[in-house]
Amino acid sequence: MKVLVVNAGSSSIKYQVFNMEDESVLAKGLVDRVGIPGTTLEHKPIGKDEVIIKKDLPDHTAGMKLVLEVLTNSEYGVIKNMDEISAVGHRVVHGGESFAESVVIDDKVKKVIRDCFDIAPLHNPPNLMGIEACQELMPNVPHVAVFDTAFHQTMKPENYLYALPYDAYEKFKVRRYGFHGTSHFYVAHRAAEMLGKAYEDCKIITCHLGNGGSMAAIKDGQVIDTTMGFTPLEGLVMGTRSGDIDPAIVWFLMDKLGMNTSEANNYFNKKSGMLGLSGVSNDLRDVLEAANSGNERAKIALQVYYNKVKGYIGNYIAKLNGCDCIIFTAGVGENGYDVREAICSDMDYLGIKMDVEKNKVRGKEVDVSAADSKVRIFVVPTNEELVIARDTKRLAN
Ligand code: AMP
Repeated sequence: MKVLVVNAGSSSIKYQVFNMEDESVLAKGLVDRVGIPGTTLEHKPIGKDEVIIKKDLPDHTAGMKLVLEVLTNSEYGVIKNMDEISAVGHRVVHGGESFAESVVIDDKVKKVIRDCFDIAPLHNPPNLMGIEACQELMPNVPHVAVFDTAFHQTMKPENYLYALPYDAYEKFKVRRYGFHGTSHFYVAHRAAEMLGKAYEDCKIITCHLGNGGSMAAIKDGQVIDTTMGFTPLEGLVMGTRSGDIDPAIVWFLMDKLGMNTSEANNYFNKKSGMLGLSGVSNDLRDVLEAANSGNERAKIALQVYYNKVKGYIGNYIAKLNGCDCIIFTAGVGENGYDVREAICSDMDYLGIKMDVEKNKVRGKEVDVSAADSKVRIFVVPTNEELVIARDTKRLAN
C-alpha cells in the first residue's frame, strides 16, 4: 500500500510518498511560492537524481497537479499511475476540541477545520486548500486529517484553562491547545521503546526544539501539559516568537510603537525570539557562532533560551512527580549538542546528568545520559510524516 502525505502551507506544499509495506520513503518534495511568481518544485525521488522545476502556478490545485505529474513521470517518477496511491494523509494544524485523533475527511470534518480558521488563521485555511485540491484530483481514495493539536487533547482543564473570565473559554474556546502533537507523539513512543517499558507506564518530557519549539509532559500515556497554548506563540523562546511574556507588554508596546493588532501579531511572532533578542538571526546556529565570537547580546539570548527550557523541565518534573526520560528532537534538539549540554547542565539535583562525550552527536537516535543519571536523556530524530502515513494507512483500512 502506498500513501501520499501532504503538508500544505499558505504558499507551499510539502509531500512524501511512503511504501507502507516497509514504511520506506519513495519520494519527497516541496512546491514553494505557490500563487507567487517564481514557483519552484524540488522533487527528490529516493535513489534517483533530484529534479527542480520552475513554473509559475496560480494555486494549490495547480501545485498538486504538478506534484502528481512528477510522481508519475516515466523518468523521475516513483509510481506508474495515481491508482497506486491508496490514501492521502493531510497535516492539519488545528482541530480545536473536536478531534483527539486522526479522522477520515468528510464534509463534517471540513466544517470543523473551517470553524477553526478564526483561531488558526495562518494554518488552517491553506491546510484546507491542500485537502480540497487533493480531493479534486484524487476523488476516489480516502483522505485523512492528522491534527497537530490532537495528541494534546488528553490535557485536563486544570492545565488547559487560562485564568480569564470563564466566558472566554465557553464563548470563544480560548484555552491551551498545544501544537507539534505528531512530533511529541512519535518521539515519546520511541522513547518508551528505548526505555524498554510500556508507553502507558512512562513519565516523559519531550523537547521539540526547532525554529518553532514546544515541550510536553506525558504520564500514563496522556499529555498532562504542553508549552504552546491557544496559539503557537506561548511557551519557549523560539526563532522569531517571544514565547511567554507578561501580556501587559502587548498593549504597552502597541501604544508606544503605534501598532495595530496585525502589526503586534507580526512583532511578537516574527520579530521577537532569538532574532529580536540577539539581533543576529532566528537561526540558532548563527546565534551560537556569534556568541562564540564574543557577541554579548547573542550570549544573553542563548541564556534566556536555555533558562526557559530548564524552567519547564523543572515545572514538568513537578507535575509528573518524577521523570523517566527527557527527549530532544527537531532541528536544534537533534543537532545542537552544545544547546542540549547547556540545558542539562547543573540539573543533577533533579537526577539529570548528561554524558557530554556521548552527547556530541547530530541527528541520531541515542541515549546521552550518564550511567548514574536517574533521568535518561535521549536524542530522537522526529518523523511527523511517518506518523501521518501510519494513521492514514490505519484509517484507510
Ligand atoms: P526545524 O524547525 O526543526 O527545521 O529546525 C530548524 C532549526 O534547527 C534552525 O533554526 C537551526 O537553528 C537549528 N539547527 C540546525 N542545526 C543546528 C545545530 N547544529 N546547532 C544548533 N541549531 C541547529
